[in-house]
Formats: sequence, structure tokens, C-alpha cells
Amino acid sequence: MSKRRARKAMFSLAPVQFRDSAIEGRGVFARRTFRPGDVVVAYAPRQRRLDLADPEAIAAADTKLTLLSEKYWVIIPDTSVPGGWLCNHSCNPNAAIYSDREGRIQCTRTIQPGEEVTIFYGWVTQNEPERDPCRCGAPQCRGFINFDLSDDDAESFETDTPAGGAFRERLAEYETYLGSIRQEQVMETILRKLAQMKLRSRSQR
Ligand SMILES: [Zn+2]
Repeated sequence: MSKRRARKAMFSLAPVQFRDSAIEGRGVFARRTFRPGDVVVAYAPRQRRLDLADPEAIAAADTKLTLLSEKYWVIIPDTSVPGGWLCNHSCNPNAAIYSDREGRIQCTRTIQPGEEVTIFYGWVTQNEPERDPCRCGAPQCRGFINFDLSDDDAESFETDTPAGGAFRERLAEYETYLGSIRQEQVMETILRKLAQMKLRSRSQR
């Protein structure tokens, strides 16, 4: 019995490996083939869940590792335990993050053994166009992880001006790109932020 168990353990390799990445820091690497829809790894095998309004959750948001789950919870990974939270960003990702329940990384494009598992961060910044340079190495790399909105963008968004037209064109191009990697939900974040920025600039006037 004990012999049998030992042999079984030898072959049950973990499906992923956590090691240094050429993109940045540590990354997640496949040890077997993953097909679209396969769960690759849990977002955070050890985690805490805090209420969205908890001051600790708000402070933790600065670490960029928190995950908003089901609109009410913030998942904070215990970073002493590796997990999907180590996934690097790619402009042409092969996996996606799902934030419901415990949070997980799921394959969206076939991943070969040895390949780095990457996701799309979908960061939307305000007035910080060059906050997050991207080193993903994809041929279609956009140069930056973040999509930035300036106060001028928010102001001109719905106006019939050259600035408004140029911004809408940039937005349409980004929407097409998001569609090509099936990350359309980022548009919701962008539109929500634009609305907030506009409201704020009005109240300051
Ligand atoms: Zn990139």
C-alpha cells in the first residue's frame, strides 16, 4: 500500500511551476498542456476575504494583488504561498482571471508545457499614461500594461471637437483590441471611470 502511494506521488507533478520570468519577477509556468477552459491554478491557495469597505482592503488595493470578488469581497492573497496571483501580464495572454468564489486562472488559448501562463491585467489609470511599462514580448505588445485616461479625455469624450474625435478613435481601437483577446469587460471599467472623472471635474468647477 505504502509502495503504491509513493509511486503515484512520483507521477502527480504539480500542473504549474513558479519560477523567475523574463517578463518580471516570478511567473507561473505550465508543466503540462492546458486547453481552453481548463483551470490552471487557484488565484491564491491561501487568502483572506475582506469586505469591500474595510479600510485594510482599501489600503491593500495599492499592492495591485487584491482581487474584487462578486462585487462585495476583496480577496487578499497570502503572498507566502505561490498561486495564480504571480501570473504576469501579457498583451496577448493565454489565460484569464476569474474572480468569483475563490478566484482562479483559466486557460483561454492552448498552453504548452514550459510556456509561461499569462493574463490580461486590464488596469485603467488616470493621468498616469506611462505608469506600467510592459515587457511581455508579444509581437502585438502595446508598450504599456495600463490604458490611461486623462482629465482632457474625460472632458472631451462626448464633445464634437478634434480632441473628442481623437479620443473616441483611440477608445474604439482599444475596444477592437480588447475584443480580439476577449477582454471586453475592461470597457465597462473605462466607461465607469470616464463618468466618475467627468462628474468630479464638474463638481470642482
Ligand atoms: Zn505587452
